Amino acid sequence: MNAAGWVVLWMAIALVPAFIARRKGLSFWGYYVFGLLLWIVAVPVALLAPSARPRCPDCAEVVQREARRCPHCRSEIQGRILAHRGPRPMWPRRLSAQ
Ligand SMILES: [Zn+2]
Repeated sequence: MNAAGWVVLWMAIALVPAFIARRKGLSFWGYYVFGLLLWIVAVPVALLAPSARPRCPDCAEVVQREARRCPHCRSEIQGRILAHRGPRPMWPRRLSAQ
């Protein structure tokens, strides 16, 4: 494989921690850069990071921050959403790709 091929491969595998982080509501681009710099560390950190998404107070399933009704148990959750537990996300949400 030539140098350009390695660069493409490097940029592609950096997407792995980025997509894991996005699924948890964490910063996609923050973890993408993290993956480019330190892929071997970024993947376990992304896997172990607590989700930044809030949870339903009734069934404790993860829900969208803007949700008014829980998609899992159908209970009204507007204004009752639980703040996520655990440490703050590693990057501020304004850097998020969403
Ligand atoms: Zn629920």
